[in-house]
Amino acid sequence: MPANQAFVTLATTDSYCMGALVVGQCLRRHRTTRQTVVMVSTNVSSQARAALGHVFDQVLVVDVLDSGDQAHLSWLGRPELGVTFTKLHCWTLTQYSKCVFLDADTLVLCNVDELFEREELSAAPDPGWPDCFNSGVFVFRPSLITHGRLLEHARQHGSFDGGDQGLLNTFFSDWAVRDISKHLPFVYNLSTIAVYTYLPAYQEYGHNAKIVHFLGSVKPWNLRSNSQTNQHTNSHLEEFVYQWWMEYSYLHHLLKTMSHQEPAVP
Ligand code: UDP
Ligand code: MN
Repeated sequence: MPANQAFVTLATTDSYCMGALVVGQCLRRHRTTRQTVVMVSTNVSSQARAALGHVFDQVLVVDVLDSGDQAHLSWLGRPELGVTFTKLHCWTLTQYSKCVFLDADTLVLCNVDELFEREELSAAPDPGWPDCFNSGVFVFRPSLITHGRLLEHARQHGSFDGGDQGLLNTFFSDWAVRDISKHLPFVYNLSTIAVYTYLPAYQEYGHNAKIVHFLGSVKPWNLRSNSQTNQHTNSHLEEFVYQWWMEYSYLHHLLKTMSHQEPAVP
């Protein structure tokens, strides 16, 4: 069973590849029994791809403009959804029966293989509008039929927030009310902004965090040092950014040692 289940992430730039490397590394560190897959777009450098190849079971190059006709046509009608179409590509991974998608800006803190007990589409509430799910962590079943329907939905309706989250929420539109088992606990997608919006809850429950999500414009790979995180005046956030850099540095060192040359790390 585990062999045909996979964690999937996505990186369309070398910066997001840094995030994806940490996602893959954390899944390994916490000994997932599932496959790990990263989808990259054609513009990602060969060095970044090589580094990802050391960490993930599968590095999949996704070219939306060169994929099936329907994807291509939908893209032509909605060019603003470029990255979103690439993300939707995860539904075509039909060699797997069930997958968990993780944004490249997530930090996995423990083994989360129990997520595979959930059904499509399971996700945690978005902190900004809890009747919407956050699309940074979700359980899904690859299916070409679903993929086709998603593309058609994108072509017809676009996305109310311009990204994959708006599109997926209007597609899986009964998520809020239909089945509570499809509501992942918030600790599986602890958005760092919750630290600001509800600090007492964070202080009470934050230690239960399983996956942290650096949602928003400030990504850990853009924060080079602790002093830079200080500007955002939150020691809790700083702790997670520090942990992210620990994982990244460890990996950087490891890949460097392996190659005995310039690290193939972005
Ligand atoms: N992404 C990417 N390249 C981009 C933007 C996004 O590969 O230029 C992927 C990446 O996996 C990222 C996900 O799409 O984690 C969602 O974007 P992001 O995390 O930036 O959105 P947020 O979670 O902040 O809303
Ligand atoms: Mn994200």
